Amino acid sequence: MVSLSFSSAADDNWPDNERVAVSLSYDDALGSQLDNAVPQLNQYHFKGSFYLTLSSPVVPQRLDEWRSAAEHGHELGNHTISHACRADISDRDWVAPQNDLAKRSVVQMVDEVKLANDYLYAIDGKKSRTMMLPCGESQAKDGDYLPQVKDQFVAIKGFEAASLNAIMHMPAELSGAELIAYLQSAKNQQRKLVNIIFHGVGGDYLTISNDAHKELLDFLDQHRDDYWVDSYINIMQQFANH
Ligand SMILES: [Zn+2]
Repeated sequence: MVSLSFSSAADDNWPDNERVAVSLSYDDALGSQLDNAVPQLNQYHFKGSFYLTLSSPVVPQRLDEWRSAAEHGHELGNHTISHACRADISDRDWVAPQNDLAKRSVVQMVDEVKLANDYLYAIDGKKSRTMMLPCGESQAKDGDYLPQVKDQFVAIKGFEAASLNAIMHMPAELSGAELIAYLQSAKNQQRKLVNIIFHGVGGDYLTISNDAHKELLDFLDQHRDDYWVDSYINIMQQFANH
């Protein structure tokens, strides 16, 4: 069957219908996402969400390409400027001392998140967007910064209403078949929203190969009646308007 509509927002009945919303997102502003993920998404007319770490050198180096991705309907989301995470847990040798969330104050984080939104506005001209917390963490040295920033966003990934029965997966080194099996099991579990958090695609780190990514998109394209792929902001706006 050929799908007659590439449209996504046309699914007025979500979340009450049988479809599972799928948010494909790509964290940290990595070059392989522009090289590989964006062209593949465009080929299928799927919209993704790209959570830019604005200190990444790939942002200024390839500014026109990020802007072009936004013009194609992809979301540029807030992943802060410096990607502050807690350094006081295991396997965090990569967190630079100045980016240790355990040493940042709530006020510093609130300022940084606001500044990141201003920078993103300068890139894409949009005033609404969503956020992905770096490392999924928000405990600064003097409290939780999430409640102080959440009003700036349509949604924060991973903090959805319980009624969505949402699930989040951060795959690395998985095959296309494994990614597809994950989606199928989420559908069997009556999930209404699946968040897949990619990093590298065909390069960089926490990598999924180009072939695995393509296989996943091909499966989603073949099963548009079961899965609704869109940017996270579009999905969450649809939910808010429901
Ligand atoms: Zn990240």
